[in-house]
Amino acid sequence: MTVTRTGPLPTGPEAEYDVVVVGAGVVGCAIARALARHPLRVALVEAASDVGDGTSKANTAILHTGFDAAPGTLEARMVREGHRLLGAFASEAGIPVEPLGALLVAWDEQQRAALPRLAEKAERNGHLATRLLSADELRAREPHLGPGALAGLAVPGESVICPWTTTLAYATQAVRSGVDLHLDCRVEKVRTGDPWHRLVTRRGALRTRHLVNACGLHADAFDALLDRRDFTVTPRRGQLLVFDKFARDLVRHILLPVPGPLGKGVLVSPTVYGNVMLGPTAEDLDDKTATGTTAEGLAGLREQGGRIVPALLDEEVTAVYAGLRAATGQEDYRCTAHPALRYVTVGGIRSTGLSASLALAEHVLGLLADCGLDPGPERPLAPVRMPNLGEAFRRPYRDAELIARDPEFGMIVCHCERVTRGEIRAAYASEIPPAGPDGLRRRTRARGGRCQGHFCGAEVRALSESYGKGAR
Ligand SMILES: Cc1cc2nc3c(=O)[nH]c(=O)nc-3n(C[C@H](O)[C@H](O)[C@H](O)COP(=O)(O)OP(=O)(O)OC[C@H]3O[C@@H](n4cnc5c(N)ncnc54)[C@H](O)[C@@H]3O)c2cc1C
Repeated sequence: MTVTRTGPLPTGPEAEYDVVVVGAGVVGCAIARALARHPLRVALVEAASDVGDGTSKANTAILHTGFDAAPGTLEARMVREGHRLLGAFASEAGIPVEPLGALLVAWDEQQRAALPRLAEKAERNGHLATRLLSADELRAREPHLGPGALAGLAVPGESVICPWTTTLAYATQAVRSGVDLHLDCRVEKVRTGDPWHRLVTRRGALRTRHLVNACGLHADAFDALLDRRDFTVTPRRGQLLVFDKFARDLVRHILLPVPGPLGKGVLVSPTVYGNVMLGPTAEDLDDKTATGTTAEGLAGLREQGGRIVPALLDEEVTAVYAGLRAATGQEDYRCTAHPALRYVTVGGIRSTGLSASLALAEHVLGLLADCGLDPGPERPLAPVRMPNLGEAFRRPYRDAELIARDPEFGMIVCHCERVTRGEIRAAYASEIPPAGPDGLRRRTRARGGRCQGHFCGAEVRALSESYGKGAR
């Protein structure tokens, strides 16, 4: 089990792999985990200092059923299958998921007319359980809905999930099962060859027989390192507002708009942490680093959110953030095997990659086989059980048995999110410890609540310094 973050990479046979997966977002981590089921030497190589630090950390955290995907596309197939696979893996690995179901709300006649077509589309995508709802039925299910809702479509199975734990669970299981994880290790050049490709990273060189590009927003730039120019990624920004937990009782389902040309539109949704989320916007930009929010974007969201659930606007906002979808001008993913290069591109994983991740990983195994990879026999993965960050399940501060065994799980440090000293210690003792305060927040929720670390920041920092000293 090797996780490296600093210093030169290993050399010699230690730096030779059957497969290198570049990019440790939710997709790359899922691919590395799938490869770990086979007796292969695999490395997962990531430019950032943590896994899931790109688009995978900033989404709307919905485990989609794929009811509204374009039928017949790879995306439709991957989301439908991914929903099933991730649902099963989540209960095995302790990833919080709440199957709240979604309500699509029509606010005008045009949208009302679209609902039966959406139900039909859902059926073509294998989702047979949708149901048209009258305005009264909608209101009975969602009493705080704003005036003017004309009709709805109930979509059972749409769920909220913790995206941070998902990525970390994949990576942890991959690492525990023998994958080498090299962080802070951007791949800068690729010299293709037979049988080895040579990857030059900012921490040294690696050799690999097969290569997977899971670079998210940068999949086009990585393709260019191998002289492939099949598509261009346009970052499509989504800004979001997170309301305080007092808002949670206002919303029972994931409230979706009728989708438009720029995607799924603005939703109001509970989170597994007990908040309510409003967003995202959809803005096509040029800058792949533009993850800031704007006053204009947030004001527009408040206006739309005020129509969906007016009482939401009386609630406090805990946080705002933005993520960038990898749009490529095609309403589908861009996954391609390049057999002559023993290279697979996993590109254009736009607004559904979290849901599709486990199915995409299986699909990529097939593409690698098309590139000549013989993965060998299957073996079981090392089990994982992740720390629970979800409010619907027992958190450590409420677990009397755990506290009796280890009193540090009863010592709350972050009072907004009720994070204990034991959880912070455990995060630093884990296979992939946090690289900084944001990584710790994604593993424990520390400093993620309404005070944003104002009261606990100094103590969390002191504990991080102390527990972080022994971390890998
Ligand atoms: C606003 C928003 C809302 C969304 N909502 C949902 C949702 O509700 N449900 C859902 O299923 N999906 C949702 N998505 C989509 C989902 O978040 C993405 O599809 C998914 O995170 C993409 O994962 P990825 O691994 O492909 O990319 P990323 O997470 O971006 O990972 C790519 C990684 O590659 C690394 N990298 C790039 N170049 C190099 C290099 N040269 N060397 C080494 N590393 C490199 C990057 O540092 C990055 O960590 C949403 C997205 C956004 C933006």
